[in-house]
Amino acid sequence: AAAHVAQPKLKLEDIYVAVKTTGRFHQTRLALLLETWISRTKAHTFIFTDAEDEDLQSNGYNVVVTGCQSDHSQQALSCKMSAEYDGFMASDKRWFCHVDDDNYVNPEALLSLLSAFPQDGDIYVGKPSLDKPITAHELLEGNATREVRFWFATGGAGFCLSRRLAEKMAPWASGSRFEQTSATIRLPDDCTVGFIVEKRLGISMVHCPLFHSHLENLLLVSHRSIPHQVTLSYGMFENKMNSIEVKGSFSKDDDPSRFRTVHCLLYPFTSWCP
Ligand code: UDP
Ligand code: MN
Repeated sequence: AAAHVAQPKLKLEDIYVAVKTTGRFHQTRLALLLETWISRTKAHTFIFTDAEDEDLQSNGYNVVVTGCQSDHSQQALSCKMSAEYDGFMASDKRWFCHVDDDNYVNPEALLSLLSAFPQDGDIYVGKPSLDKPITAHELLEGNATREVRFWFATGGAGFCLSRRLAEKMAPWASGSRFEQTSATIRLPDDCTVGFIVEKRLGISMVHCPLFHSHLENLLLVSHRSIPHQVTLSYGMFENKMNSIEVKGSFSKDDDPSRFRTVHCLLYPFTSWCP
């Protein structure tokens, strides 16, 4: 028998993309994503929300209505991340990627990033949100605590996990366990992923500058690097719009996030691109 069975080349459809959203953002944030990047990844993109939406379901999108609370609490958000993880585990996909509903995903850049990793490796890749590991106080039995330090990828910039690593995470991440683990360190869902990977499993996160959240200054993303960026974002920062600077098809008034402009740069033959 052959010692090595070559893995077939990774395809875009092998990537499970989970988008976290909430009912009140369906018509605004989510609609923008459906028109842009999700139009290229529809079959393997899964929308995790807290409200039924006839329109979404009847248009053939993969929608998962979680029973999670529809607020911004640590518990509600961990509940959604847990549903995303379980959804991926039940699928036949090779990679899990999480993004927020204010992220643009560049499908080709994502595919080339993930293709460069050993496909049977333990990979956790994303952008660290701080310039040093976070310190958490893990709750132990009998109310004792222990200081732990670890890196985590900002959920708002998106991150990915290989299937092999996701399987190893199951004892702390599957079903109700993800929320329990999150409660143990009293930190949000994205920190919990980092805690499980780095502290429970002893595997280091891969730091990647190609993921972007609106917690960083998005003006620093250069125009010519856009085709290589894996995710982008937009949002308000100190009462001002934080978005990437890109000239092209749409004015800032018509496209404040710049996602339409980026999409037309990457896919100029899209019907609504000028
Ligand atoms: N979100 C949610 N429920 C809420 C508020 C936000 O699921 O009640 C989701 C939202 O759709 C987004 C993510 O959580 O995907 C982050 O929300 P937002 O961008 O508003 O806040 P941030 O944490 O980035 O400041
Ligand atoms: Mn955000």
